[in-house]
Amino acid sequence: MKAQQSYEETDRGTLYLVPTPIGNLEDMTFRAIQTLKDVDLIACEDTRVTQKLLNHFEINTEKVSYHEHNVRTHTSELIEKLLAGENIAQVSDAGMPSISDPGVELVATAVAQNIPVVPLPGPNAALTALIASGISPQPFTFYGFLNRKKSELKEELEGLKNKTETLIFYESPYRLKQLLESLTEIFGSDRRVVLAREVTKRYEEFIRGTAEEVSEWAEKTELRGEFVVIVEGNDEVEEEHYWANWTVLEHIDYKMNFEKMSSKQAIKEVAKEREVPKREIYAEYHQ
Ligand code: SAM
Repeated sequence: MKAQQSYEETDRGTLYLVPTPIGNLEDMTFRAIQTLKDVDLIACEDTRVTQKLLNHFEINTEKVSYHEHNVRTHTSELIEKLLAGENIAQVSDAGMPSISDPGVELVATAVAQNIPVVPLPGPNAALTALIASGISPQPFTFYGFLNRKKSELKEELEGLKNKTETLIFYESPYRLKQLLESLTEIFGSDRRVVLAREVTKRYEEFIRGTAEEVSEWAEKTELRGEFVVIVEGNDEVEEEHYWANWTVLEHIDYKMNFEKMSSKQAIKEVAKEREVPKREIYAEYHQ
């Protein structure tokens, strides 16, 4: 076990995780700007993309590239600098670092090395889309990108179709039709789906309907821009009872030991939860 006191004095540097706008520069927070100004180095997914942001906010901090193709070599270089006391901010091209973006290995290695990792709150496409979707915001599963190959995409969807929580996907406009077609086929045509397009940008729009309706919309639309796909959970699946694999005695034992009930109360509760007469549970307990 380890505890991180984020703002405690240490001789190591701090790794700041800084979200950046997903389309609207005004979504940059004061703290994000100040952090990017204050650190010694900014690790960027694409230095050219981040440079535009830095120019806009007049930030002159040194940059280094950190993306999926140089993660192996660059993680250890960044960790060495952090261990030597440099403060580093990590950003991706847009939104939260590590969320379907680079950062995961850097954070894991920093944590392993007891380097403080300080996250800043800020823009993220999934959650921003979710709260306006009209679909239940919790519980939810953030899935990110599904597999690009059709057969594997379908397999993944098969594994997700009985999930009762809201599902959130990222998808490129080039593969969106395929995703919606497979969703309709596997999840059923009536499942509610929301497409959140170009969130926070000038042409932001929300397409809300059944899987079939949204799929038909996509078929006849020239798809452009960025999309988040929000899918309602399956409300036809009965959730398994927590005691489904227990014997009656194990169930009673749980009530007595963990819920601190007397044997009499436990028998009554178990009978109620299992929807069987109390005398049956009583008989089993006293056998
Ligand atoms: N790290 C980012 C975040 O926190 O949201 C996500 C990066 S991921 C590589 C890019 C995907 O996020 C896009 O393909 C799209 O699915 C989604 N996305 C990003 N910006 C968006 C926007 N403004 N509107 C809708 N979806 C967006």
